[in-house]
Amino acid sequence: MGSIEFKGVTKRFGENTVIGDLDLTIEDGSFTVLVGPSGCGKTTLLRMIAGLDTQTAGQLLIDGKDVSHARPGDRDIAMVFQNYAIYPTMSVRGNIEFGLKNNKVSRDERRQLVESISKTVGLSDYLDRKPSTLSGGQRQRVALARAMVKKPGVFLMDEPLSNLDAKLRFQMRVELIELHKMLGTTFVYVTHDQGEAMSMADTIVLMNGGKIQQMAPPEVMYRQPANVFTAEFMGIPPMNVTRAGADGIRLGFRPENARLSYAPIDGAFTAQGRVVTREMLGSETVYQVRGGDDVFMVKSTDPGIDVDREVHLAVGEEHLVRFGADGVRIDA
Ligand code: ATP
Repeated sequence: MGSIEFKGVTKRFGENTVIGDLDLTIEDGSFTVLVGPSGCGKTTLLRMIAGLDTQTAGQLLIDGKDVSHARPGDRDIAMVFQNYAIYPTMSVRGNIEFGLKNNKVSRDERRQLVESISKTVGLSDYLDRKPSTLSGGQRQRVALARAMVKKPGVFLMDEPLSNLDAKLRFQMRVELIELHKMLGTTFVYVTHDQGEAMSMADTIVLMNGGKIQQMAPPEVMYRQPANVFTAEFMGIPPMNVTRAGADGIRLGFRPENARLSYAPIDGAFTAQGRVVTREMLGSETVYQVRGGDDVFMVKSTDPGIDVDREVHLAVGEEHLVRFGADGVRIDA
C-alpha cells in the first residue's frame, strides 16, 4: 500500500519558495511521473516524500499516515538515483543483500529473496560479479534490485536512466513498465524528459515554477493540454500555438495534424508560409514553415515538399485547441 498525499505543502530554501501550497494525491499502485523543466521542483518533491527534505509548511501523508516528520527509514519507501549509489567493492549479491542485512533478515530468507529478485531483473548469472565488470544497464538493475528487496510500498526514482545510452534507456523503460505491472507498487518517477513521461506513466504530473500545470494520463495531457505551457512542453515537436488572434484567443494544433500543399487547401485553420527546414525522421518528415510572425512545425508522411517553397497549411476543426488570453484552454 502506498498512496501519497501532499496537503498544502510549501517548501522554502531561505527566501526562495520552491514549492508553494501544493495539493497532490498520488494513487496507490500508480506509475506517476513528475516531469517539468530544470529547477521546477521535481526532485524537491521526491526528496520530501523520501524524508530527505522536510516541508516548510503543510502535511505529507503516506498510506493515510502523517509522515511529515518521520525519518526516511520509517516511511516504507525505497529510492533509486541517477548515479545508482551501488557499492563498487561489494559483489552484486552483496549489494542486493545490503538493504536486508540492516533489517535483520535470516540468512536463508536472504538467499531466497536475492535469488528471486535477481531473477526478476535478469541478474541471476551475475551475482558474484563486481559492479565494475557490469554494463550501465546491469548496474542500474542492481540498484533496482537493491531497492526491491526491501519490498517498499513506494519506489522513488530520480532520473534513473539518464546515464544510459539511448538504446539501453529505451529497453530499461520497457523493463520498468513490466516491473511496475508485476510488483503493483506505487512508482514515483522524476524526469525532465517528456518522452520518458509519455511512454511510462499512467499519470503524468507536469510542473513549472513549483506549481502543477496539469495532472493527467499521457493521452489526455497530449490531446487536451490544460494550458499553453503544457501544450508546448509535451510532444516532439511540441504543439503549435499561434500568436495572439482576435480577443487574445490562441489556436493550437499538433504537428501531425496539419496538412501541407503547394495549392490552397481548406481547413478550420489555414495559413501560408515558406518551408525553412525539412528533417527526415524515417517514416515521417518534419517541416518548419514560417508565415508572418508564426513558425509552424508540421509532421508529414510526405517527404517530397521542398525547402524554400511557398506552401499552404490547413488544420481540421477536430484538431484545433483554443487557449484564452491567460493561456488556459478554453474548453477545459
Ligand atoms: P532538475 O531537473 O534540474 O534536477 P528539479 O525540477 O528537480 O530540477 P529541484 O532540484 O527540485 O528542481 O530544485 C528546485 C529549486 O530549488 C531550484 O531553484 C533549486 O535551485 C532550489 N534548491 C533545491 N535544493 C536546494 C537547496 N538544498 N538549497 C537551496 N536551494 C535549493
